[in-house]
Amino acid sequence: MKRGYRQIEYTSDDPWQLRAACRGPQAYLFFPPNHPERKEDRESRESRAKAICAVCPVLDDCYGFAIDTREAHGIWGGTTEAERRVLLAEVV
Ligand code: SF4
Repeated sequence: MKRGYRQIEYTSDDPWQLRAACRGPQAYLFFPPNHPERKEDRESRESRAKAICAVCPVLDDCYGFAIDTREAHGIWGGTTEAERRVLLAEVV
């Protein structure tokens, strides 16, 4: 997934995180477990997380936040940390 970069302004009056589709019991899908994870398990977990992102009402806010803050871990805005590293390397 490749998207353009846009700067988003955040205020405490706009708690987009409260509308995140990943809130709740499925939140564990968005970060690796604290034990070794096989490649196929990681790919399955990431795919399931991205499916949630795809229908999330705050996808753009989340993606922008992850890019702006250089979030280094987890799935944010439908992207993995590896995908964001590539995107950031392209725009910097
Ligand atoms: S885009 Fe994905 S990671 Fe971001 S808030 Fe929505 S569901 Fe969570």
